[in-house]
Amino acid sequence: MNENTDIHEHLVCSGSGDRYPVDTRLWRSPAGAYFDLAFTPHFPRDRILDRAPGMWRYREALPFPLHEVPVSFDEGFTPMPRVPIHGHEVYLKQEQLFPSGSYKDRGASMLISHARRIGITHCVEDSSGNAGSAIAAYCARAGISCEIYVPEDTSPSKLAQIRSYGAQLKPVPGNREATAEAVMAAAETSFYASHVWNPYFFHGTKTFAFEVWEQLGFTVPDALILPAGNGTLLIGTAIGFEELYRAGEVPAVPRLYGVQAALCAPLARTATPAPNGDTVAEGIAIARPARGAQILDKIEHSGGGIVTVTEEQISHTLGHLCRQGFFIEPTSAATLAAVPEVLSRPEFANKQPVVVSLCSGHGLKAAEKVEKLVQS
Ligand SMILES: *Cc1c(COP(=O)(O)O)cnc(C)c1O
Repeated sequence: MNENTDIHEHLVCSGSGDRYPVDTRLWRSPAGAYFDLAFTPHFPRDRILDRAPGMWRYREALPFPLHEVPVSFDEGFTPMPRVPIHGHEVYLKQEQLFPSGSYKDRGASMLISHARRIGITHCVEDSSGNAGSAIAAYCARAGISCEIYVPEDTSPSKLAQIRSYGAQLKPVPGNREATAEAVMAAAETSFYASHVWNPYFFHGTKTFAFEVWEQLGFTVPDALILPAGNGTLLIGTAIGFEELYRAGEVPAVPRLYGVQAALCAPLARTATPAPNGDTVAEGIAIARPARGAQILDKIEHSGGGIVTVTEEQISHTLGHLCRQGFFIEPTSAATLAAVPEVLSRPEFANKQPVVVSLCSGHGLKAAEKVEKLVQS
């Protein structure tokens, strides 16, 4: 008897509410809406604490059978030191330390484990670089072949990383949207292991919330400052805290703040529309996020907000972090550049809030670019 197989686990069309089996090859509903996953997690603390520190220690909260072996590098449980950022003390989860160099490995480990379980042997994915690297790494570990579509102007080291894993790299001329269109055509005949559309990816990134909860001594912070491009970490973190809340483990979902580059800020209502502006934060330059409404919904329910940062703030923060020994890619610095603005909001007046943020991607992914920005 497999106690982790939830017989109620199924996909739900976010538009109609119709149910689909978990082994469907569809990546969205026939009406074009994204899927969510209905699944009941459990948090047996004694069992969690018995296991090695890693994202798979929350086995009973992950949609994967207990008796099966996931596609994993024993990743997760990244360190969370306190770091001064522009004068504010923030817990900074070291998500750049994942095997492929970004937190996307959380989602890839969960999604590719699921894909292998339902018999997938070939898949396609599109990305501005890091999700593609993560999917390529986990496909290599799983023995699944993959094609990764990326915008032509993606950082060269990300392209080299994807090719080195043995994935077939498909560079697409034009912007990130052109790449998304190219992969959708390929997805007509291949399994689309999408970090944006496939809900299993979000049930991997939700482990970020579980780890923050555990690393803060099983408590919730007052605020989380997270990137908001396609929202793969933000939505996952919201799902994670919602699950903990429903299980009675935490008193509330913490405030979630989503950070966008001012040059590409479709979720900031006040921003003048900028068509995929040329920001150095390439990882969050998403002009039309497929789950944009869901991101805003999660943020609103948490009592948080959207914050935008300028190119100057991003470069300045990148230098500030590098000079403290944190070598991160420019997209990571964009998130951290928002710290002063979040902490000056009225909800934190006269308070010393517990704030968690992260280094989302490794500096080695764009080393030359980092050096140039830090020196400018
Ligand atoms: C993917 C990524 C982000 C942003 O994630 P979204 O899912 O687009 O919100 C931020 N930083 C890095 C390094 C990333 O790889």
